[in-house]
Amino acid sequence: MYKITGFKRAFILIVAAAVLVAAGSVLYWRQVTERLSEDARAVIVSASRELADNFSRLLGAEFRLLSTVAVSLKEPDMLTNRETLVSYLDKQNKNNAFTLMGYQGPDGQAVFSNGGVLPDFISPENVEYAYKNGHYISGRRKGPFTGKDILVFAVPMPAEPGEKAGVVFATQTIEFYANILSANSTHGQGLAFIINRAGDIIIAYPRAAYPNVFEAGRHSVYDRGKSALRTQQEISRGESSWTGYTLNEEHRFASYYPLRYNDWYAMSVLPTKSVAEQAQRLVLMSLLLCLSIIVVLGVLLVFILRMQSQSSRALFRMGFVDPLTDADNLNAFRFKFPRAAAAFKEKGVPYALVMVNVNRFKAVNDIYGFEQGDQVLKQVAQALRGALQEGELFCRSSSDIFLLLLACPDRTELGRRVDVLAARAGRYCPGEGEACLPLSLTCGIYLVDENVPFYIMMDRANLAWASAKQHAGQVCAFYDEESRRKIVTEKRIESSMDQALRDGEFKIYLQPKCDFKTGLTCSAEALVRWQHPTQGLVPPDQFIPVFEKNGFVLKLDKFMLEETLRLLKTWKEQGKPVVPIGVNFSRLHLEDPHFIDVLAQTADDYGVEHRLLEVELTESVVFGNVSLMKEVIDGLHAKGFSVAMDDFGSGYSSLNVLKNLDFDCVKLDKEFLVRGEGNPRMRQIISGLVRMIKSLGSGVVAEGVETAEQAEFLSGIGCDLAQGYLFSRPLPPQEFEKRLLEERDKK
Ligand code: C2E
Ligand code: CA
Ligand code: CA
Repeated sequence: MYKITGFKRAFILIVAAAVLVAAGSVLYWRQVTERLSEDARAVIVSASRELADNFSRLLGAEFRLLSTVAVSLKEPDMLTNRETLVSYLDKQNKNNAFTLMGYQGPDGQAVFSNGGVLPDFISPENVEYAYKNGHYISGRRKGPFTGKDILVFAVPMPAEPGEKAGVVFATQTIEFYANILSANSTHGQGLAFIINRAGDIIIAYPRAAYPNVFEAGRHSVYDRGKSALRTQQEISRGESSWTGYTLNEEHRFASYYPLRYNDWYAMSVLPTKSVAEQAQRLVLMSLLLCLSIIVVLGVLLVFILRMQSQSSRALFRMGFVDPLTDADNLNAFRFKFPRAAAAFKEKGVPYALVMVNVNRFKAVNDIYGFEQGDQVLKQVAQALRGALQEGELFCRSSSDIFLLLLACPDRTELGRRVDVLAARAGRYCPGEGEACLPLSLTCGIYLVDENVPFYIMMDRANLAWASAKQHAGQVCAFYDEESRRKIVTEKRIESSMDQALRDGEFKIYLQPKCDFKTGLTCSAEALVRWQHPTQGLVPPDQFIPVFEKNGFVLKLDKFMLEETLRLLKTWKEQGKPVVPIGVNFSRLHLEDPHFIDVLAQTADDYGVEHRLLEVELTESVVFGNVSLMKEVIDGLHAKGFSVAMDDFGSGYSSLNVLKNLDFDCVKLDKEFLVRGEGNPRMRQIISGLVRMIKSLGSGVVAEGVETAEQAEFLSGIGCDLAQGYLFSRPLPPQEFEKRLLEERDKK
């Protein structure tokens, strides 16, 4: 779902752009071709007009020149003396660009500037034409002396009306005018003609393939709406127009415009091939330009997208991937969780949030270093990843904590699966030849049964984990309401215990140990109570186990010891009755080598005799390490303290062990009594036990004596003292003092 589609998008964009450009180019090409051929048409139309204009002007100039000469020939003697005439004509001719000039008299004799004389060089009809129109131009004809194709111009001599005074004429080669046409042939690409209305070509540039344009028209295929006939009609009517046709597989435009002289036309022809080529060139160039722009833009786009995707990938990694294990991080897990959970819900498969923690991971780091610690985490991650089934998720949530979303079709099945998983991840081998390190995992499982926010699910998995953690050797625990409440209470206790100790909320209560017969108080046991500001008097069962776990019991025991010593001290000082008091000590004290010394020193600080202090150690502690126990008992005895074994019979009591330990007193657990109730066999066992303990030289205290019947039985089998509600509940110190005083007074 995080796939980056930038490249795909860029690719599509580029392809789309290319298609657009291609389509655009085709359109553009057509547009350009059309526009260019329109242009070409316009060019050719204006070319023919220009050609007609220029040529007409040229002819006009020729006629004007001849007219000037004609006027000067009117001078006296000019026409009478042939020599004078020839020399004058020759001189004039040299000043102008004609081939030859001449004068043809009314007699028809034509005198040339080169001295030649020809009869009727210009036919009488044409001379007549010149008289009538003021000028005359011949069609193409052969030159008289050179044989070259020429044109002949003539103007009449000034004369009175009706007078025939002859004409002044000049000849010029067709080639000369062809050269002039070349300058008007649309930049050398086109053709230029001077034709007459019959279509005969008079002057052509370059040389024409056909002598007559209509004849050429017969070999051509005309554009739609155009034809040779139409052109012919237009020309015969003296109109100017244009036509398009294909000749010799070459398309051309031709336009024609009448000259001011004769019935002549100027005709310009332009092959459209050059237009098409120009269009192609133009389109090609624009296409290339577009393509290069697209390529540049494309490269730029790809570059930008790559940068973007790289940085978003990096950002994504930072936000959603755990860099050490490559697994999802908590963010990613939280993001994916709802969807995955919904999928399970849809399939009707129950699912669980599982929290997995590497036990004593800190020790791994401390002993093997962080690098190995990292390896351990990687390996655990790999094991978890490998165990996932379809639709399940896992992530590394923080340092050594992993979270999993697992399908849980069946509770025991999931428990087993998690056990297997823990076993698989539960061994780390740093390298060849090095000892493998046994790892253990603890898992907390919250079987999601309620629609609660994710953080509450995490809390619950965490609570389950904490309760698994409480039981050594347990790999996983399921979350349930009871364990939740227990843990919540524990947390509350832990968070307030220090303050409670400072504020004096812990109180000492004293429970008498009494003589069966007389009921008099022989000694007592100090029992702690928590006078909680909101919860009232809290019994020790609710907080001592928590304190034993977190070590706070050491402080509390020390406090109780001092409270006991303070009481003993004040009783003595105030001359009140004094009895030995038993103080409970947690097994944690035994790990402290200075325990006995500190105890002795504290008693001394209060000035209390050691014999008044009885140390109560529970059975489980005693059997944990017999030799250490022996040392402790001997040490306490050496300092003059007496030692009692507490809760005898609650666990795995062994008389054998008891034999080797020199307790002053053994306290029978109240469970014993309960079990003995109405059970003669049990009673026999108890009686046997008491006898044996006594035979080892220890006193016996029966705990939890609640009924007279129990008291009778216990005293009957030889128990020394009774501690129980039958005689007294644990009392606040003043009440206990009062009791002692009353007892003394009774004596
Ligand atoms: P424990 O040492 O076995 O103390 C005797 C417990 O039996 C006391 O419970 C007492 O109230 C109860 N008891 C006495 N007579 C009867 C009876 O006739 N019937 C019944 N049902 N119970 C009776 P408490 O005071 O709740 O103490 C519970 C346990 O808490 C103690 O068991 C002891 O293990 C621990 N504890 C109490 N105070 C301290 C302390 O200052 N330090 C340490 N380390 N543990 C303490
Ligand atoms: Ca006790
Ligand atoms: Ca006890």
